[in-house]
Amino acid sequence: MHYTLKSNQGDLLDSSEGKTPLAYIQGGGNIIPGLEKQLEGKKVGDKVSAVVEPAEGYGERHDGLVHVVSKNGFQGEEELVEGMQVQVETNNGVSIAQVTKIQGEDVTLDLNHPLAGMTLHFDVEITAVREATKDELEHGHVHGPGGHQH
Ligand code: ZN
Repeated sequence: MHYTLKSNQGDLLDSSEGKTPLAYIQGGGNIIPGLEKQLEGKKVGDKVSAVVEPAEGYGERHDGLVHVVSKNGFQGEEELVEGMQVQVETNNGVSIAQVTKIQGEDVTLDLNHPLAGMTLHFDVEITAVREATKDELEHGHVHGPGGHQH
């Protein structure tokens, strides 16, 4: 599928324009549930406008995932700037966090998904539909253009 993703405010968040169409396995949990549900049974050439609430998208934002840490913990790494993404060790392994604020020695890290808490507006065009192969079903993802290359 080709897709365009916009926020409630109409800001462009993501798009497949100019890229290979995204390939996924319907029912495989490859894409967010709210979108997958609205694409069920669609055919080649179908155009779908789907609105997805946070609960069926990337979840709600959690204030508990925002942490203020000391700059000292980042010594030896590249210089921190607001807006950059960093890898951090959490109790659940390595996560991606966004540096949302730097004030003196205090660095605010936000571990929420960047699209958490947002109502998402998708415009989707189905460009191809085919049966998944046995290998793809075993791996849980599509192989070839728009999918995994291996
Ligand atoms: Zn695979």
